[in-house]
Amino acid sequence: MDIKQLLRKNIANLTPYSSARDEFTGSASVFIDANENPIQTGLNRYPDPYQAEVKKRIADIKGVSVPNIFLGNGSDEPIDLLFRAFCEPAVDNIVSINPTYGMYKVCAEINNVEIHYSTLTSEFQMDVDDLLSKVNAQTKMIFICSPNNPTGNCLKREDMLRVIESFHGIVVIDEAYIDFAPGQSLLAELKKFENVVILQTFSKAWGLAGIRLGMAFASEEIVTVLNSIKYPYNINVLTQQKALEVLKDPEKTTQWVASSLQDREALGSKLAKLPFVETVYPSDANFLLVKMSDADGIFNYLMEEGIIVRNRSSVILCDNCLRITIGTPEENETLFTALRNLL
Ligand SMILES: *Cc1c(COP(=O)(O)O)cnc(C)c1O
Repeated sequence: MDIKQLLRKNIANLTPYSSARDEFTGSASVFIDANENPIQTGLNRYPDPYQAEVKKRIADIKGVSVPNIFLGNGSDEPIDLLFRAFCEPAVDNIVSINPTYGMYKVCAEINNVEIHYSTLTSEFQMDVDDLLSKVNAQTKMIFICSPNNPTGNCLKREDMLRVIESFHGIVVIDEAYIDFAPGQSLLAELKKFENVVILQTFSKAWGLAGIRLGMAFASEEIVTVLNSIKYPYNINVLTQQKALEVLKDPEKTTQWVASSLQDREALGSKLAKLPFVETVYPSDANFLLVKMSDADGIFNYLMEEGIIVRNRSSVILCDNCLRITIGTPEENETLFTALRNLL
């Protein structure tokens, strides 16, 4: 596959901004090239535009190479950059599953790109033939999310691989919740596919939604394109420092995930026994999708109790469903007690 052919012409022909730190990357004793304030406050210098240290740690932990990593201001940044790189506004389109994460549609609309949907099956799996039937000559990207939000389940690996092998464009696999679904990542197979972008994030398992740091893993060619169109200093110094600190102790994240999975199972089985709970769907993520007899009523009641869950009842296939994030054991207990008081 020729990635250059897929790119918008203006992006393929772009001369990117060249920052002071692009033009000199060695070591020196006097830096008077970037019009910074020379007083050392710890924050007076521009950040590393390509986040070399952070990427080195991520590469070790994830078993990938540094040139295959792009870092963004949350996963939202690479999602938007992919639209800007590959989709000609008002001409090209993308295909995605439904229901799924809302940001693909928002980015599509901002970029004036049509989105075509393939509805999941009642088991929340892809109908691959239906999905591929939505592809036409102007389809540049397919967005897949696994584990999927808001349904919580992993999509079948063989289905994702079939989409990747059948489509001559970019396939984005959003793995924001993959740390909660061990063994399910497609990252180990990334090298086989030059058209795949895998998204992961520090916002969920790593407990760092506040620092805004998202990862995109892809071929060196795609990473180079994303780097050439991002803001030059997209990841600030504080975010890079905090990420490095947390990446020193990945074991802590593993422990958080393990206890969150236990809490999820405990809460799920308690919820399932409530008479107004119809279904607690199987989850591979840090939330539960729960079908109720009256989701709107229960949502409003919980809100009055000061407990905010996500009402997904207007979403396709999610009639009467609330999406409940696994909180601390105390928060889960507060939720359960409030629901039991409805009896
Ligand atoms: C939470 C979430 C993200 C994370 O977005 P960030 O911008 O990295 O915080 C990405 N994709 C999905 C499906 C999510 O649910």
